[in-house]
Amino acid sequence: MRAFLVCLLVLATPTAHAKKRRQGGAHPAERRVARHHQRFAGNGTGGDSPKPEGGGPELLLTFDDGPALDKTPKVLELLDQHGYKAVFFVCGAHFTGKSAAAEKARALLREIVARGHAVGNHTVHHLFLCGKPGVDRAVEEIEGNGQLIADAIGAPPYLFRTPYGAHCATLEATLASLGVRPIGWDIDPQDWRLKNAVKIEATVKAALRRLDGRAILLLHDVQAATLVALPKILDFIDQENVRRGQVGRAPIKVISYDYLLEGRVPKAPDRSLPALARAAFESIFVPFWRDAAAPGDGGAGSPVDLGAVPRP
Ligand SMILES: [Zn+2]
Repeated sequence: MRAFLVCLLVLATPTAHAKKRRQGGAHPAERRVARHHQRFAGNGTGGDSPKPEGGGPELLLTFDDGPALDKTPKVLELLDQHGYKAVFFVCGAHFTGKSAAAEKARALLREIVARGHAVGNHTVHHLFLCGKPGVDRAVEEIEGNGQLIADAIGAPPYLFRTPYGAHCATLEATLASLGVRPIGWDIDPQDWRLKNAVKIEATVKAALRRLDGRAILLLHDVQAATLVALPKILDFIDQENVRRGQVGRAPIKVISYDYLLEGRVPKAPDRSLPALARAAFESIFVPFWRDAAAPGDGGAGSPVDLGAVPRP
């Protein structure tokens, strides 16, 4: 109930971030992300996620910032066509309240789960969780979104990704206190910034040609250009695997969250599902800032246009 009230309160009070975006000003996080991308654009072939033992390359598809009523269903159709499963890191601002759009978005979340995909927490309002918002607000955003997701799909999300890839000592302490381990990514075609299907496709293809470990691909199902690029990216995986077969290279296996849980879960003291799920992910994917070689100035992500979010 507390989380629900918090969500209503937060929704009723547009954030400084949202106001600033409507005014066209760049959020500090966006400037930080832009700097990050200048340094790391096009980089990423599984650098942060450890290589699978004895197997070929593996790819986890992730889609952030949705669900989008006009785009996410198309993503689901494309994934079904290829038999691929993905993780959707969603923002509760899209599916809170009593509006028809919010109810449709909650139904869409259930559809995501029904089709075998996983739903992860990406905060209610895609808030930059370091600095000014403070610890209480960060907790509200994380727990509030967890509650909204649980209300929609009947189970809390076990996966979490920080908006903008934000990381700082305060946030790390907050996440630790909540028992939350954030998930990073390895391949980032910057779809949210480029909004150019050709460039998005080219960046992902280049990374997949080089891939020989395990990698997480970051895409945004709220971006129109991503929807244009996605069928070509998924077709390319099939073509690349044919090519790899011809030269004796192991094919890229597109993995699901369930795959990570099955037979790959290390012995955990607490065998409850949340602990199990976290342990599985922690054993396979390393949050990028725990890697000494990872950038120190932030990751990526895309801002949700709160102006387009239906209000309760
Ligand atoms: Zn994001």
